[in-house]
Amino acid sequence: MEPVNLMDLTLEETEKLVATLGEPRYRAKQVHKWVHQKAAGDFDRMTDLPAGFREKLRAISTTGKLAVLAVQKAGDGTAKYLFGLRDGQSVESVFLPHTYGNSVCVSSQVGCRMGCGFCASAIGGLVRCLTAGEMYAQVTGIGEDTGQRVSSIVIMGSGEPMDNLDQVLKFIHLIISPDGLNIGARHITVSTCGVVPGIRRLAGEKVQVTLSVSLHAPNDELRDSIMPVNRKYPVRELVEACRDYVSVTNRRVTFEYALIDGINDSREQAIELARLLKGMLCHVNLIPLNRVEERSFRQPGPGRVRVFKDTLDEMGIPVTVRREMGAGIDAACGQLRRKSAGGKAETAGR
Ligand code: SAH
Repeated sequence: MEPVNLMDLTLEETEKLVATLGEPRYRAKQVHKWVHQKAAGDFDRMTDLPAGFREKLRAISTTGKLAVLAVQKAGDGTAKYLFGLRDGQSVESVFLPHTYGNSVCVSSQVGCRMGCGFCASAIGGLVRCLTAGEMYAQVTGIGEDTGQRVSSIVIMGSGEPMDNLDQVLKFIHLIISPDGLNIGARHITVSTCGVVPGIRRLAGEKVQVTLSVSLHAPNDELRDSIMPVNRKYPVRELVEACRDYVSVTNRRVTFEYALIDGINDSREQAIELARLLKGMLCHVNLIPLNRVEERSFRQPGPGRVRVFKDTLDEMGIPVTVRREMGAGIDAACGQLRRKSAGGKAETAGR
């Protein structure tokens, strides 16, 4: 039988498991703490548990800790990790140090089936969804390797979170819990390519997370051509769902807009974008495209980026240009995994 991943379990679920082993309930809290707060990768480290209980746990479960297969560190402190999963698959996560605290960019799936034309994660399609514990372990793994406190999380690595929303929500609840890492919901960002029902469900969850929408085009014609998801959920519907998200949660929505040379970066398109978002509590984050080897899209020159930004500014849309972090370490989604031996890892940790 597949061992239980203790990192997947809430405290209540851990209590049930502990009960099946005939152990007193308070042991669950100890186990949960070792796994979710101290990220103990080894049962032998759980020194306040009796040896016999540790053996029982070892026989049926894993601590969920992931093997670090590769790390690339950039001069600015950004570090990209390739983690090995138990089934031999691998995922990427990124450590981003900021002046206001450190954040971790978490992957939610191995690969992705959304098919965005500029994205490396889309190339091999979806392999599988990650469990809540596999997302959690990316955060604790990076916390342990860097020795630094992680104060915010962006679910913006490989995968589409809305295509794995049950596990993503469970992950969020585990992370924000005082029994977990106790990171405030406001410091968690969920990024989506625009899966409207997912946005509506997230709005109804009553967690104060930040919604980030990867828009990248101001109209259906263009968005259809670079983001297939738009054929299902067109721009108007998407923006309406975002306006509703703001009115339900009172949270400002972020729109990601990757500038692609000659495709979506003209002044006219900036004007169209500004009109589309007018009056919404939102913020546009312009990202000069990260070059992906397998794709022909290119980053525009700094002049075009400036005109696009100034146009949004003039039209009253709050906008920033994302500071490029981790230049030179394959920081664009999915690239490290693609470079490692076909995305397969040899072994994974227990
Ligand atoms: N599926 C989710 C989250 C993962 S992608 C989403 O679409 O939001 C994270 C962000 O990186 C998205 O905004 C995505 O559009 C963007 N992205 C993908 N490939 C990129 C590239 N080559 N350059 C810049 N941004 C890219």
